[in-house]
Amino acid sequence: MSNVFEDAVARLRGLGKAAGIAAEVIDALMQPKATLSASLPVRMDDGSTRYFPAFRCRYNDVLGPAKGGIRFHPGVSAAEVKALALWMTIKNACVDLPYGGGKGGVIVDPKQLSRMEIERLSRAYMRAMADFVGPDTDIPAPDVYTNARIMGWMADEYQAIVRRKAPAVITGKPLGLGGSKGRSEATGRGAFHVVEQYAEHTGLDRKSTTVALQGFGNAGYHVARLMQQAGYRIVAISDSKGAIYKQDGFDVESVYKVKQESRQLKGVYCEGSVCEIVDHETLTNAELLELEVDILVPAALEDVITEKNAGAIKAKTILEVANGPTTLAAEQILAEREVDVLPDVLVNAGGVTVSYFEWVQNRQGYPWTLETVRERLEAQMESAFCAVAEARETDASTWRAAAYSVALRRIAAGIEMQGTREYFSGDN
Ligand code: NAD
Repeated sequence: MSNVFEDAVARLRGLGKAAGIAAEVIDALMQPKATLSASLPVRMDDGSTRYFPAFRCRYNDVLGPAKGGIRFHPGVSAAEVKALALWMTIKNACVDLPYGGGKGGVIVDPKQLSRMEIERLSRAYMRAMADFVGPDTDIPAPDVYTNARIMGWMADEYQAIVRRKAPAVITGKPLGLGGSKGRSEATGRGAFHVVEQYAEHTGLDRKSTTVALQGFGNAGYHVARLMQQAGYRIVAISDSKGAIYKQDGFDVESVYKVKQESRQLKGVYCEGSVCEIVDHETLTNAELLELEVDILVPAALEDVITEKNAGAIKAKTILEVANGPTTLAAEQILAEREVDVLPDVLVNAGGVTVSYFEWVQNRQGYPWTLETVRERLEAQMESAFCAVAEARETDASTWRAAAYSVALRRIAAGIEMQGTREYFSGDN
């Protein structure tokens, strides 16, 4: 993970050059605009004080205030936060949201903290960052191991500091505290719209299309559920404990129900009545990635498709629901093998799109119906897919190159409006 930011910047430089983006624009995106590091003092339940390193990165805000999640994880680092903030910059521009990119994180293992310690940590994060974030500057949201309740505590802390209601400072809040309908399913639903557009574009027959899913969490569950409802056959599903396989395809709701009861897919392996609902074989996560399927959906973590396994992947299409599941080296191998990699910056943008809707609703003081949220999400994702598909046909070799081309052209237009060397030297 130490080189994740260098990897992200190398990819940006390569794809930007291939898309003919001016060097001045790429230079502007080589480093974040600003990063704040802090040490968060947290009173633990035993009375002691612990200090947790924390970051917030406002990568770029040419197209609007920065936007991106906050991660609580022991693997967080300044480099990872910067890479994630760069990807948010590309993602928001790719789906045409009026936002730049940002990201935050705390180095902590939240599973070791009590609920009250997590509340104090969340509030301490907002106290440290309150001058850096805001409804018009940088708007956080949930990410790995943070959730709606944590966003609610952070919004409350911010409002206590500024002494007024300001729900638009953070998105992904609980419904009762200004959250949006449809936010929890948004990432999976957005990914589903992308795969549906892709199916139409390539003439894919849903009924004969098999799918393997890595990561049965929030995003993975919703995309698998919607794909199964549309006729795709979900033959393999995994979580951190292992994978299950069934040639005829799973009923995703039944697997979800069993997982909810046991808190892990392993519960599915047991003997007994609930397990009979889900007839299956077991696999390892590594075996799942290399299955003979049509679509592979990584929906768990970064760096799972690497140069070590890229040659063994048999899926013809990869739907990147997770952020950064394919390394740069793996992507080159997959491109040579003509595997279509539908990139994270397009596929998982449904989450930030509904976060944007939440921000708009907060600013309007006018909540939307679930139908409105779903209709507008579908329209936004379809139009993003069409822009990327068009760029791929005209000037890009891969889907990721096309998505970066769409995003970078929008950012470039913003930068060029403010004047470049050509403009000031009178050449143009
Ligand atoms: P989540 O915590 O709800 O789910 C993650 C799932 O991955 C869990 O089921 C976990 O058991 C599983 N997992 C962890 N390690 C694994 C491993 N080694 N092999 C297989 N499975 C493993 O998280 P989420 O919100 O669904 O996010 C998943 C991915 O999607 C992340 O990369 C996240 O950044 C990305 N994403 C999520 C959203 C969102 O709105 N939820 C938005 C954009 C991107």
